[in-house]
Amino acid sequence: MTHDTHPALIGSLRSSAASIINFSPGPTSLPKAVEQQIADSFQNQPLTSLAMSHRAPEFIELLKSTIATTREVMQIPDDYEVLFTHAGGHGQFAAVPLNLCKETTDKACYVINGTWSARGAEEASRYCQVQTIDAKDPATGHYTRFPELTENNIDADAKYIYLCSNETVNGIELHRLPKRPKSRQHIPLVVDASSDFSTKPIDWHGDGVGVLFACASKNIGHPGVTMTIVRKDLLGKDKASPLCPGVFNYTTFSEAENLWNTPATFNIEVVGMVMNWLKQQGGIEQCEQRSIAKAKAIYDTIDQSNGFYGTPIKDKAIRSRMNVPFNVKNGDDAITEKFLIEAWELGMVGLRTLTPFGVGDYLRASIYNGITLTDVETLVSFMKRFAQENS
Ligand SMILES: *Cc1c(COP(=O)(O)O)cnc(C)c1O
Repeated sequence: MTHDTHPALIGSLRSSAASIINFSPGPTSLPKAVEQQIADSFQNQPLTSLAMSHRAPEFIELLKSTIATTREVMQIPDDYEVLFTHAGGHGQFAAVPLNLCKETTDKACYVINGTWSARGAEEASRYCQVQTIDAKDPATGHYTRFPELTENNIDADAKYIYLCSNETVNGIELHRLPKRPKSRQHIPLVVDASSDFSTKPIDWHGDGVGVLFACASKNIGHPGVTMTIVRKDLLGKDKASPLCPGVFNYTTFSEAENLWNTPATFNIEVVGMVMNWLKQQGGIEQCEQRSIAKAKAIYDTIDQSNGFYGTPIKDKAIRSRMNVPFNVKNGDDAITEKFLIEAWELGMVGLRTLTPFGVGDYLRASIYNGITLTDVETLVSFMKRFAQENS
């Protein structure tokens, strides 16, 4: 096999190694116990949720228990509705302005500190007046920080303040949601938590969360369903744009108790399994501790490599615990490819995948709920050995 056709270099995930650790940014592997539970569910019962009418009592029970466990694990207050929406994170890029801006002249404030918030703002600009707080570094063209929210950069009339709590590609995470300035606390936050939901607590009321959404395919399940949590005062027949499609309308979904049309039945069951697993693993605080430990092991390896590995985000307070971007010898092509091939042959896959934004300058270790500390230790010991052998 020639060098440039090695499967590791085209993003192949099927390594020939006996066991595989999937560092993909999503969709990706769920916790082993959940994957086993899914497999067992096909063995152990005559009818799975794949074959159930969404209006059958058995499915209603699954739906209710998934919502109840999510509420418990994520400590979601009663004045929030838990919805299962369609069309992934991108669907919400449109649904948010369509639900919160009745008129296309309504304003919305978008914090842009990475590729996903930029994409959200671009989509929203079709439905409302987008005002941006852009954190791109003009010198480098890169996103490496989260801007301060002030009276000066948030219009008092904005319908909402939008941000992405984990920029999956750029590796920037808000470990806690930011505080709004005093004079802007009437404006709800809208949070794209697609890649960090279920890995840390959320102060729903304290941080003024109005809408929070998470496509399932990073931390909580498979693509095809998106969890969208909406504060109830934002619902109402007269609130959304008259052009908001029914399948995007929060009020319609809430009134129909998630059964306005056929929901992604199986995917919802899987979200329930992940939430149950999180509960059994000690809940959200324990999950956060695991995330901290996993991320620290990789960043420490990078920081202590004497420059063999590099990571773009220098400010440790905003380094992502979910996605660790790193390069090898300043991005040297030959050594990077050697790294990818050796890792892949040892079963560590998904370290360089295609995104809508290209392959990017950095490799990336995504360490969601499906990755254990032991998995991370395997990567870290490989990284250390590789650095020694190739310095
Ligand atoms: C993956 C991702 C999305 C896109 O989700 P789709 O389900 O592919 O539409 C949006 N936002 C963030 C932060 C993501 O990580």
